Amino acid sequence: MSDKLKCLNARTGEVMEELTVTSTSEIHTIVEKSHVAQGKWSQLTIDERCDFIRRAYKLISADLDGFAKLIHEEMGKTMPEAIGEIKAYANGLENMIGEVKAALVPEVNSVGEMETTTYFDALGVCASITPWNFPMGMPHTLMMPSLMAGNTIVFKPSEEVTLIGIAYAKYLNEFLPKDVLQVVVGAGVQGKALVESNVQLITFTGSQRTGKSILETGAKDLKRVILELGGKDALIIMDDVDLDAASKFATNNSFRNCGQVCVSTEKILVTEKNHDNLVEKLIERAKTLEVSSLINKTQKSHVLAQIEDAMKKGATMLLGDPSKDESNFLSPVVLTNVSNDMDIMINETFGPVACVTKVKDLDHAVALANEGEYALGSVIFGNDKELAKQTARRLKAGMVGINKSCGGVKGSPWIGAGQSGYNFHGSVAGHRMFTQVRIVTA
Ligand code: ADP
Repeated sequence: MSDKLKCLNARTGEVMEELTVTSTSEIHTIVEKSHVAQGKWSQLTIDERCDFIRRAYKLISADLDGFAKLIHEEMGKTMPEAIGEIKAYANGLENMIGEVKAALVPEVNSVGEMETTTYFDALGVCASITPWNFPMGMPHTLMMPSLMAGNTIVFKPSEEVTLIGIAYAKYLNEFLPKDVLQVVVGAGVQGKALVESNVQLITFTGSQRTGKSILETGAKDLKRVILELGGKDALIIMDDVDLDAASKFATNNSFRNCGQVCVSTEKILVTEKNHDNLVEKLIERAKTLEVSSLINKTQKSHVLAQIEDAMKKGATMLLGDPSKDESNFLSPVVLTNVSNDMDIMINETFGPVACVTKVKDLDHAVALANEGEYALGSVIFGNDKELAKQTARRLKAGMVGINKSCGGVKGSPWIGAGQSGYNFHGSVAGHRMFTQVRIVTA
């Protein structure tokens, strides 16, 4: 990458701004400043730290429309989706504060006269390297628990949404003490330099390829690494099902954010009994949607290549017009007759494609759902809750939803199994991942 970064409007392709990227030599200085700030930051009480963040989030909420417009333009989300993203994470802040505070209270165990106290201390400086698909949500999730725990942050937003990253950091920096949160502008080169620098914790969401490289680099100094690496989530439709509800979920979860969601539905597995009705309802609903744009041309080419490969190998396209025009837009595509010899059934698509496979029975569905290296989420729709729960336990995914999306209730972790994750966040155990555990026994 040259020393300039062109920030593009995903919807129009226009250049919004040109930024100077952070030089790799500068990253060392930034990290050292972060260490200096960390000393004081970690000495504040957790309530004091959370209050700075609270004030910044009030500012974000007050500027809802302005911030949403930036997300709409640079990332390509529809305005309702952009507003929805900001509201969801801003509204979740108090809950997160409550959870993190409870998780980090020292624990006391005693046996006879002896007493051991377990402390959850800050780790130091945290590098947060984030993707583009939830340009506020991902930084929020990867940075806020870390800040609350007393770490300082060097934040590298995805090169696709740098302006949004800078804007988000600016709201926070209206209140945070100097150098507690600093931004690095750039792409993989800057990300790699940051991982190699004197940071103690790396939080990352993105591709498996980059995640593995981060883990390898971080291993040299035994840095703490928390990774979420995408998914290939299945939606299993049981025979005994509310098909209307299932098709509604299938549509929303296949096409929301133009399919650019780690836990979007990437393969729909259904028996002969419900196959045709499901496809009909899915198409009917999909036709009415206004979808976001894809993030860039590379992403569009990847989605089109997967569709082309599937068509060559015998898939049927019942909805969609995947033309190779210059824009980043792609209207919803529905494919049937898909099989596991097609790339689209194994590797993450991250695009507006619903792939419906006819399975023989539930065992067949489980086998297909478990193929490949990803194991982030999965969803089962069916009225027999006991059978659905038993089936859920046969899936290798880290998170399974029954008649709902896979994210758990308050207090649950966000966790990828297999090669979809390494360590995790959310929940008592997840919040403690951002800390150094120490004990004192007396
Ligand atoms: P995506 O396909 O979602 O863009 P990537 O894994 O390529 O996923 O990128 C996610 C984030 O990781 C971005 O902020 C990107 O700049 C950064 N990144 C890319 N390569 C590296 C690397 N080798 N080390 C650290 N960060 C990287």
